[in-house]
Amino acid sequence: MTDQSTSEGGPANAAARLRYVRGQMAKACAHVERAPAGVQLVAVSKTFAAAEIEPVLAAGQRAFGENRVQEANAKWPALRERFPDTELHLIGPLQSNKVKDAAALFDVIHTVDRASLCAALAKELARSGRLPRLLVEVNTGAEAQKAGVLPENADAFLRDCRESYGLTIEGLMCIPPFDEAPAPHFALLAKTAARNGLSTLSMGMSADFTTAIEFGATLVRVGSAIFGSRPATTAAT
Ligand SMILES: *Cc1c(COP(=O)(O)O)cnc(C)c1O
Repeated sequence: MTDQSTSEGGPANAAARLRYVRGQMAKACAHVERAPAGVQLVAVSKTFAAAEIEPVLAAGQRAFGENRVQEANAKWPALRERFPDTELHLIGPLQSNKVKDAAALFDVIHTVDRASLCAALAKELARSGRLPRLLVEVNTGAEAQKAGVLPENADAFLRDCRESYGLTIEGLMCIPPFDEAPAPHFALLAKTAARNGLSTLSMGMSADFTTAIEFGATLVRVGSAIFGSRPATTAAT
């Protein structure tokens, strides 16, 4: 790897880092003979201000990830007026009382993970007639502090989403444990999705998106490799 893979010592601006990430994605696709169009880059702009996001929009990036509904609502309506074809992804935990706001703002929610949230989403669907695209988060490392359904409960949860709540789930998402090799977690997520007939796999971040692509990721969520490092307190959330 070259020194361009991280913000420190890499290209000085976000547009150049975006190009670099896109190049790495293309190489990873070529390596496993996947079509580059089958992997979407979600640029994770959490904690970054509109002024820092604008150059990335200007460089042509149109899918962005945020982990807080309130923060996204403060930044994105104005940016979207200028870049109306922007697609927004919620990649952080969603509280049931924020479902209405989240449904109004986001195009994809990656973090469906419990029955009470399904109930709130079903209610919003009944109220408005539409919902964002939905992914179920799987806690592949069974970490106590992490959101997501446990791998052994995933099949039953997916059935419940469909049969009890009438929700269409498009795919799965995971965040592997920080201190473990990610590959087995990506493999587990891909296997769980295949068993349940799901086509979308949201996996891979700045440190491991090329590995995720090799394991079948269709969405990679890349923040710091594009925007630079975040304050330490929010880096892991
Ligand atoms: C912050 C975050 C990312 C991006 O992390 P980087 O390491 O900066 O690429 C991806 N996914 C989720 C769920 C996140 O919270």
